[in-house]
Amino acid sequence: MGPMTEDTGALVLFSGGQDSSVCLAWALDRYARVETVGFDYGQRHAVELQARETVRAKMAEALPEWAPRLGPDHMLELHGFGAIGETAMTGERAFEITSKGLPSTYVPGRNLVFLTYAAALADRRGLTVLVGGMCETDFSGYPDCRRESLDAMERALNLGMAQDFRIETPLMWLTKAETWALAKGLGGEPLVDLILEESHTCYRGEREARHAWGYGCGTCPACELRARGWEGFVAEERPVMRPSAVKA
Ligand code: ZN
Repeated sequence: MGPMTEDTGALVLFSGGQDSSVCLAWALDRYARVETVGFDYGQRHAVELQARETVRAKMAEALPEWAPRLGPDHMLELHGFGAIGETAMTGERAFEITSKGLPSTYVPGRNLVFLTYAAALADRRGLTVLVGGMCETDFSGYPDCRRESLDAMERALNLGMAQDFRIETPLMWLTKAETWALAKGLGGEPLVDLILEESHTCYRGEREARHAWGYGCGTCPACELRARGWEGFVAEERPVMRPSAVKA
């Protein structure tokens, strides 16, 4: 166990997507005990549920020093909430911007509900840190991804549950390219490769075409964001050759 490891337990909100996979790696690098929680609210795609299992298993395999820290996975059923929040994520609506300027993929208050369930589970499991992939940088316009919303949520949970939870959001101020760079810093190429190969982000649940940035339809907002992030990461990684360094 490294000197930086905190002797506390963390619960990672884990969907099997790129962001929450990096969050899982971040937590495994940092905490002595890490469990994961996923939410089944009637998503369109079983492919996401499969990605969760595969990413967890391959992460423990690729980075054996993390394996003993990885505890159980929990899946909470939230079909009732899914029925209320029916949008492009859960129903069959198109990807568009609504009259309120929010993407149609936005499910009102989803992160607040997830965090409430996660906190109740963490309380039962004796875990004190909640880790989520919320991000304001490549901002999709979701108000419950704002750090300010999460600070308020943390306070509400601690007051309401007489607890001392911390909501950690390691990706909050990173671009998608920087998220890849964080993955590389945490677990090197093996971690980058497994997140590229096994994490699932596409809203349409497609895994037929393999692009440079992973699998997906390539045209939904999630695929576009992932593609741009990967391109940015690769562009920054490429060694820059200075003309003066080139021997004549
Ligand atoms: Zn897609």
